[in-house]
Amino acid sequence: MPKILYVEDHIANRILVRQVLESVGYTVVEATDGLSGIEAAQQEQPDLILMDVDIPGMDGYETATRIKSLPNLNGTPIVALTAQVMAGDRERALTAGCSGYLTKPIDVDRFPEQVAEFLEGRRDFVPREQESVYLREYNERVVSHLAEKVQELTLANEALARTDTMKSRFIALAAHELRTPLAAISGYLSLLTAADSPIMAQADAKTLEVLDGITTGVDRLKGLVQDMLDVTRIETGTLQLRRAPVHLAWVFQKIQKDFANVVARRNQQLIVADTGQIPPIWADGERVIQILRNLMSNAVKYTPDGGKIEINVEILNGEPTGSHSSTTLPLGSYIKIIVSDSGVGIPAEQQEFIFEKFYEVREIELHSTSKINFMGGGAGLGLPIARGVAEAHGGSLWVESEGFDPQACPGSKFHLILPVGEPL
Ligand code: ADP
Repeated sequence: MPKILYVEDHIANRILVRQVLESVGYTVVEATDGLSGIEAAQQEQPDLILMDVDIPGMDGYETATRIKSLPNLNGTPIVALTAQVMAGDRERALTAGCSGYLTKPIDVDRFPEQVAEFLEGRRDFVPREQESVYLREYNERVVSHLAEKVQELTLANEALARTDTMKSRFIALAAHELRTPLAAISGYLSLLTAADSPIMAQADAKTLEVLDGITTGVDRLKGLVQDMLDVTRIETGTLQLRRAPVHLAWVFQKIQKDFANVVARRNQQLIVADTGQIPPIWADGERVIQILRNLMSNAVKYTPDGGKIEINVEILNGEPTGSHSSTTLPLGSYIKIIVSDSGVGIPAEQQEFIFEKFYEVREIELHSTSKINFMGGGAGLGLPIARGVAEAHGGSLWVESEGFDPQACPGSKFHLILPVGEPL
């Protein structure tokens, strides 16, 4: 039996048309606005489309014109349905690409028959001598609607940009404001916990536990404030790099040391490539470590217990392999560090968004702040900072993953490219 797509925003009309058409055996699918109508038409490939002309967003005429321009739908009859019967409506519908025009409210008795006529190939035409007049009028309508929408979009974009600037300013301000009291707390805490402090001399196990808890909390807060400051610096292009020769062996050793306990606690395996003959690069070593720390802590968090994390390195050398000496890399070449894990993976459609600040793939309600627990969330600043630092070096950072699957664990591969660089 024929399949009819009905594009209509009013539910009462949809129910009525559905009842009438289903009672004579048609299959009815529905959409509530122009864009979802186009999508439904492509997916469902209906035999006929009933198009309410007065729908939100793109109107029914424009939606009909768009559908008619799609290769696999240009033969599908579209019948306009409208309540506003005004002079020229019929011609307008035909000019937009509709086969014909029916008025609303529908005539329940005759409706199935009218639809059947269009299914069998009825096609109304605008008299030839009036065609160009209606075509021009239709073009003008579409263009003025387009101009209206472009203006709306421009205003919406400006509003978004203002909100984004305000958000950035707020982050910068909050980080600066938090820094001072935090420094004071941290300073007093160091006094309390210094080996020779009178408190430590008398401290019992409970006091030591409390001090330990405060220290952990303060360290976390410091990390967060540091991240907020880094995000601000990256956004304003004021991140200062202290470039010097950096040996990857040193970087990897530090990472291995930093994460030894964490991976052991999660029973994970960390395999780090031998950097053997790779000459040093000109970079900010601490910042390169920061990138890898962020990637590593994600790899640990999003990989189940017992999983595997690998760090590999390649030289990307515009020239034939082996043409560089073993002490320096030619200018213009790059190194690529790959951090791969056997974790839950990342959905394809989110692989770009995770580099945006505060972005989290999962619901914020599920958020459990943890640096190492399986699927423990963070503030969503790790990857934007890692990418920002890579880009400040003239490098890049992206991810490859076959998708998110906490059972099969397809894993994720982060590719970090850094230029060999040169002394400034
Ligand atoms: P967070 O502080 O939430 O970890 P990030 O910016 O470091 O923030 O990461 C953003 C999001 O990207 C994470 O919430 C997570 O959903 C996803 N993600 C990052 N790394 C991985 C990974 N190795 N495996 C799976 N998902 C990841």
